[in-house]
Amino acid sequence: MKTPSYSSSTENASHQQKDSPFHQGEQAAQSRLGVREKMERFGRQVIRDFMPEQHREFYNQLPFVFVGHADDDGWPWASILFNDPGFMYSSDDRILTINTVPVVGDPLADAIKKGARLGLLGIELTTRRRNRLAAHVTEHSKNGFQLHVDQAFGNCPQYIQTRELEMLDPNLLPTPSIEHIHAFDEQAKTLIANSDTFFVASYVDNHNPDSTLASEGADVSHRGGKPGFIRVDNDKTLTIPDYSGNFHFNTFGNFIENSKAGLLFVDFENGHLLTLTGTVEILWDSPETKYFEGAERLWTFRINHGRWIRHGLPLRWTLDQFSPSTLLTDTWEAAKKRQQANPHNREEHKSEEAKSKWLPYSVTKMIKESSVITSFYLEAHEHQQPTFKPGQFLTVKADIKGQKQIRTYTLSSAPTDPHYRISVKRETSTDNNVPDGIFSNYLHDNLNIGDTLYAKAPCGDFTFDTTEKRPAVLLAGGVGITPMVSMVRHALKEGMRTHFTRDITFIGAAKNKEQRSFFEELNTISESSGGKIRAFWSLGKIDKHLKHGEDFHHHGRISKALLQAILPLDDYDVYLCGPTGFMQATYELLRGLGISDARIYAEEFGPASLKRNADNATRLFKPLPAATEAIIEFTDSNVEQAWSKEDGSLLDFAEAHGLTPEFGCRSGQCGACKTKLVSGKVAYQTEHTSSINDDEVLLCCAVPAALENAGINESVHDEVNNSTDKGTARLRIKL
Ligand SMILES: Cc1cc2nc3c(=O)[nH]c(=O)nc-3n(C[C@H](O)[C@H](O)[C@H](O)COP(=O)(O)OP(=O)(O)OC[C@H]3O[C@@H](n4cnc5c(N)ncnc54)[C@H](O)[C@@H]3O)c2cc1C
Repeated sequence: MKTPSYSSSTENASHQQKDSPFHQGEQAAQSRLGVREKMERFGRQVIRDFMPEQHREFYNQLPFVFVGHADDDGWPWASILFNDPGFMYSSDDRILTINTVPVVGDPLADAIKKGARLGLLGIELTTRRRNRLAAHVTEHSKNGFQLHVDQAFGNCPQYIQTRELEMLDPNLLPTPSIEHIHAFDEQAKTLIANSDTFFVASYVDNHNPDSTLASEGADVSHRGGKPGFIRVDNDKTLTIPDYSGNFHFNTFGNFIENSKAGLLFVDFENGHLLTLTGTVEILWDSPETKYFEGAERLWTFRINHGRWIRHGLPLRWTLDQFSPSTLLTDTWEAAKKRQQANPHNREEHKSEEAKSKWLPYSVTKMIKESSVITSFYLEAHEHQQPTFKPGQFLTVKADIKGQKQIRTYTLSSAPTDPHYRISVKRETSTDNNVPDGIFSNYLHDNLNIGDTLYAKAPCGDFTFDTTEKRPAVLLAGGVGITPMVSMVRHALKEGMRTHFTRDITFIGAAKNKEQRSFFEELNTISESSGGKIRAFWSLGKIDKHLKHGEDFHHHGRISKALLQAILPLDDYDVYLCGPTGFMQATYELLRGLGISDARIYAEEFGPASLKRNADNATRLFKPLPAATEAIIEFTDSNVEQAWSKEDGSLLDFAEAHGLTPEFGCRSGQCGACKTKLVSGKVAYQTEHTSSINDDEVLLCCAVPAALENAGINESVHDEVNNSTDKGTARLRIKL
């Protein structure tokens, strides 16, 4: 293959005006991912055939630039050029002059010929700014070359780690040395495996009459991730995640047309360069993708040949900060653990029982969120932390004063946080005859950093979909804020990753400033969301030092006037969590504002008591009629007793007869009190969310069903009819 060349810039300019800014490979990738039309509209606005003023200034101030090209045999390469700032300058908005020569041994040296098509990436690692160019060489000399701009566009700063730059005196450095390689040596494997940044060149030239398309030619792109994001599969192949980016698909579009890439790894501390070229394969639907946090798809690179250019650079960089978007992504090690921890991938995890196993967590941090709420950070011991959806809760257990206690606490962390976080309100009693809450006080007073807490895998149905287009309103009363914190943390993180942040209005209600929790955290999330997530605070009691609009936005209970003032007319999903009184009052307000019952999702931290006024009767929970009397036999304990409706739930009844079944939430949500129903039929008195089979019962919210409802199947029916007292319902429960 001959040096790819560019025929006529005027010809191209006219193409650029009427044709798409994307070539067919880019268009195919965009279509595959459903962003084709949007990107065409967007691309026509932001991809120009000239450099805007700020791009010209930007290139002019840079001390280095990355360049992509394809050699005479069609192999792409990524290179770095450097010199004192000012070495790149533009006499007009279509011409960029570059006053430097490639590093000794860099294949780019042979490619700088008239007509050669290059891709340029100007990147400022201190500020994360970057701009891109597609251009062709118009002139060259022994000191540098001149480019004519075909396409110019800006790039967002995602996944760029900040680094401080130092220029060393080249005269004081060892002479560069070149080593040709055809496989990764140990040093290459180490550099690649520890890299958080590399550069990828790709190239497309379809050799048809349209080959002058400005969208074709060479490209060079930045790729960033956590060290360990590139997997060295063997001494020839790498597997690399592809994160959500600008949706141009410049690199992947080129890969579709020409499955070759050039990879450049810069040893930022020592000034060595590892430059590789080889073939690529796009893995659009690899099953491994879903275990790698942040990965949208994967690709593999197989080396054909490459070079070490040792001591090639007099530049040194010191890592400053990881990009916030990088922190949301994974490493292959974490992905592997996650894959192994997935219940579906492990034999021993296949049964329901194993899924609800108690797993140990270390308390690693405790943070006071308000005068009554403290957060506990939990890190998984040996196992991989099970994944969860924002809004779900953990069921935790502890031995308190010699008794096993189980409670449920909603996770206030986001699913992608490396730890779990629960945030617990201390339940104190104002009545001397009523004891303080057992578990919450134990956590506040007795738990220390380093202690172990046991928890089951997260569960719950009060979950939030960050991809939903409908705006959401989150209304939290007191400690009911915990699911909302997880929801907005996740929405923000997903927004940064996918460029879509769901519109959210959060209102947190607290008794007073002292009890207002997560104030800074939610305000910071709101500020970082670019207006997509709004946070408002409503305080029951205020004092004169508090500033309206800053410390709080509303005084008193959440009111119709407040909702009308901050919620433009729209179709919302509303999430409600808080104490019973708050839930009922707020629910009525929302219904009064015309919000449909079906759009209001509610969770209570105790037995469900919200009285709904459903717009569709099927939405209402209709309990089966309960028996007034029954005979209950707990089979394992050999206890058989008469039950009457005053005895309450089966859990209350069992406890009253000296049995100690496991329980957690006592509201049908956590499933801790689930046991086998040997025979008979139960009626649930409150809506339960924990799933159960026909032969199981949730003791905490069930009572015996009235006889006319008993007998779902023959055996149960016979059992009922054969009971000694023909008019009395009978239950047999394994306990
Ligand atoms: C799905 C779900 C999610 C939850 N998420 C959270 C969360 O994120 N954060 C959080 O803080 N809580 C949460 N909870 C509540 C939590 O599970 C506990 O119920 C709460 O911490 C109280 O437990 P405790 O052991 O401290 O109180 P308990 O000992 O269970 O007592 C509960 C209350 O009853 C009072 N009491 C005790 N004995 C008597 C008596 N004899 N007569 C009258 N009153 C009595 C106590 O003073 C206390 O106020 C959640 C609950 C559910 C169901």
